[in-house]
Amino acid sequence: MSNVEADPTELRCDAADHGEAAPQVDVLTARDVPLGGPRAMTVRRTLPQRARTLIGAWCFIDHYGPSNVADTGGMDVAPHPHTGLQTVSWLFSGEIEHRDSLGSHALVRPGELNLMTGGHGISHSEVSTTRATILHGVQLWVALPDEHRHTGRDFRHYVPSPLRVGGADIRVFLGSLAGDTSPVRTFTPLLGAELVLDPRSTTTLPVNAAFEHGLLVDQGNVRMAGTLLHPAELGYLGTGNHTLTLTNKTDTFARAILLGGTPFDEQIVMWWNFIGRSHQDIAEAREAWENASDRFGSVDGYDGDRLPAPTLPNATIAPRKNPTHH
Ligand code: MN
Repeated sequence: MSNVEADPTELRCDAADHGEAAPQVDVLTARDVPLGGPRAMTVRRTLPQRARTLIGAWCFIDHYGPSNVADTGGMDVAPHPHTGLQTVSWLFSGEIEHRDSLGSHALVRPGELNLMTGGHGISHSEVSTTRATILHGVQLWVALPDEHRHTGRDFRHYVPSPLRVGGADIRVFLGSLAGDTSPVRTFTPLLGAELVLDPRSTTTLPVNAAFEHGLLVDQGNVRMAGTLLHPAELGYLGTGNHTLTLTNKTDTFARAILLGGTPFDEQIVMWWNFIGRSHQDIAEAREAWENASDRFGSVDGYDGDRLPAPTLPNATIAPRKNPTHH
């Protein structure tokens, strides 16, 4: 099937080096988005974008750093709400202090999964600490399926042990890969893993053929099923593949985040920090936050005011349709 909504300027499908037919990988580039605040840190956002809304239930990918906290001010996100989604914080370096309306107070550190389930409603703050100089990582969101989107708030911390597979060191933080399984519950079939690829190496991973996959390159150049990806690019591969081959032809280590999941076939409405199914869902969540309702609770210990919600657009917010996967 062809991807009728793809924007040709955002796609580049390189031919594989060898003569065999290789699965088609779409290359999605990032746009720079300021996080807000007086010394706003900029993030590279690859999801959602015009050519793609979701990969499995993964619906949001922000990639940031490496940046010197002393220069950029780091991250200082005042208390704000979420509904209908989970957030995953994963760092390569640095440290972030997380506080939420469950009463969680956690330090997010490199190689450690911190998964927050917003469900019906949660609020949290995220502030980088000054203990680490360089802040570098990703923030990812997972859309909750309709039957679980009003689940209770939750917060999980998990430290995966690294696995050695082929020429790669792998940390599986959600789902299963290469014989390792994260114990952290997901509401739809999902995969999330950090991969560090040796210089001059090729690694073939068995993957779930029912999953579509995204590979966000953090560092180095990585070939995903033959297609070259540069840092900050997101490679997308549709369902129907039993293996995924990753190659690093360079003389330095490469690092990437591999995401996967079964295609999420519900239409969602995303606005600000909310995911719903209709404009009305979003308007209700916004009003609840503006009225300091119990729905989102409150965050203790943050030094400053909470974030006000932006004004709703006049027009009804349309649901996002994901392009047909290959
Ligand atoms: Mn948040």
